Amino acid sequence: MSALRKVSGPRCPTCARLLPDPHLLEIDPRFRCGACRIDSPVLDFVQPLFLFQGPLREAVHLFKYSGYWKLGRGLIRSRLSDLLPSLEDVDRILPVPLHPSRLRRRGFNQAVVLAREVAEGSGTPMDLECLVRRKGGRPQVGLRPKERRRNIRGCFAVTSSKNVRGRKVLLVDDILTTGATAKECARVLKEAGAEEVRLLTLAGAFVE
Ligand SMILES: [Zn+2]
Repeated sequence: MSALRKVSGPRCPTCARLLPDPHLLEIDPRFRCGACRIDSPVLDFVQPLFLFQGPLREAVHLFKYSGYWKLGRGLIRSRLSDLLPSLEDVDRILPVPLHPSRLRRRGFNQAVVLAREVAEGSGTPMDLECLVRRKGGRPQVGLRPKERRRNIRGCFAVTSSKNVRGRKVLLVDDILTTGATAKECARVLKEAGAEEVRLLTLAGAFVE
């Protein structure tokens, strides 16, 4: 595990980008990076666990495309003790859903495997039904940020708003890139009345 790099350093709470000064958040816990100040963020907190590089990149590929579930689960477990304090007030854990046709092709949703590990480790219930993906859209890989936002718009729906109304939910996914997918999930969850939507991902693909 020593070659894996944890995401660390002073980070913008709502997009996880590195902040230039470690004291900014100490002075003002509500401090946000320039991008999040301009474009008020729909995600309340964003926490990627590892940098998407080196051996972690290979591990994520093995987990996601070759079905090595144990790798994904083990990586989550290795960070669980760091995570638990921030999960104390979470009401529901929701994996980012795959479209049913993609799910059939891949055979499993990697986000569910990760979310289950978080749910079991924290004792927080996981909900597999209230957020669904109703449109496939093109794969996000290779699209520019603006195209990603357009491509994902309208892809998700909340099936039962009573399961999210007034609740603090934690979305779980494998990789954070631009965050367009998670933001679209957060948008529909907030429309359905969610009080807070946070995002936890196994890896963050930052340029740093
Ligand atoms: Zn930010």
